[in-house]
Amino acid sequence: MQGVDLVGINKMYGSVHAVRNVDLSLGHDEFVVLVGPSGCGKTTTLRMVAGLESISSGSLSIQGRRANDLTPAQRDVAMVFQNYALYPNMNVYENMAFGLRNRGVARERVDREIRRAAEVLALEKLLDRKPRQLSGGQQQRVALGRCLVRHPKLFLFDEPLSNLDAKLRLEMRQELKRLKSRISATSIYVTHDQIEAMTLGDRVVVMANGAVQQAGTPEDIYHRPKNIFVATFIGSPPMNIIETTLSSMSDRLYFTAGELKLPVPAHLKEPVSKLPGKALLGLRPEHIALETGPALDAFVKGSVDITELLGSEQLVQVRSGERQFTVTRVDPFRRLAPGQSVSLSVPAEEIHVFDPQTQQRIR
Ligand code: ATP
Repeated sequence: MQGVDLVGINKMYGSVHAVRNVDLSLGHDEFVVLVGPSGCGKTTTLRMVAGLESISSGSLSIQGRRANDLTPAQRDVAMVFQNYALYPNMNVYENMAFGLRNRGVARERVDREIRRAAEVLALEKLLDRKPRQLSGGQQQRVALGRCLVRHPKLFLFDEPLSNLDAKLRLEMRQELKRLKSRISATSIYVTHDQIEAMTLGDRVVVMANGAVQQAGTPEDIYHRPKNIFVATFIGSPPMNIIETTLSSMSDRLYFTAGELKLPVPAHLKEPVSKLPGKALLGLRPEHIALETGPALDAFVKGSVDITELLGSEQLVQVRSGERQFTVTRVDPFRRLAPGQSVSLSVPAEEIHVFDPQTQQRIR
């Protein structure tokens, strides 16, 4: 069965090019997350799929049928927003029944669908309550339930968790993850939160400046970011990016920058040798190991600038000349004093390299 296809989709608001040439093909029961910073065009893309915004150029099809000019109702989409938009004077049951009743669905079927959705979302005991008698998380579950009972072709989520506090957000994220396997519809989920994107998406689409930067599985996006934008947007704290010069010393090739000297690993020699003498080196904070004694395989020596205790781990900023390195996953019980000498090392397979001119990953 076909899902949703976007081919060369653009959106112009006067002279603002909000969405640029987006090509995406979504499977019929795939859960895809659009993620990117504010203003990158993710909401506009979602609204064009929903039919709430016209498409300036390109083609949209839903289950094989051209959908550019269909009304939202004809597209058979259900949309969950950040404000739950429940009817305040109706109880939970009536809120969920409203859409089905409007379409003349038989009473027994309405009841069956609501009982089933209520069970999935743990709302059975709350069916008689009014929205004002519910917590934010419960209201969001009702909003989800209202969509579930309809069995739409397409589920669209516009930052549905952004009004919840941190604890509820985590709970609802896990709930959505559980729910995901029960939804047999194409789902598109928009968020600016990379953790939500990485934990919920079967596929993650990273956007910036209206364009898709990379679309791939969460593993792909994290381990093989296509460019500097994706590399630094996904991962927290962000990847360390260091401008280096490529230097040959006694027949070996090194990345060098001030005190930093790191041999180019064998598997990267060929593509690195094609770079014009410079490379951007990317090292994730969680892949750097920190030693206080001498370390044979250290790529740089420096001194502790600041430390932050994050509970189960310690974050350390290390200064080496004018460069700063962020290192995480340091044992929280390790005592490190500002100014203390440390050396850093990294496994060869965790090194990312980008072309300084194109900002693209090599290989
Ligand atoms: P956010 O996370 O802040 O909602 P977003 O990634 O969803 O951001 P969009 O809302 O899709 O971004 O906006 C993309 C671009 O289009 C932005 O530059 C925005 O200012 C512009 N834009 C959005 N709606 C309109 C409009 N109605 N008129 C003019 N420009 C608009």
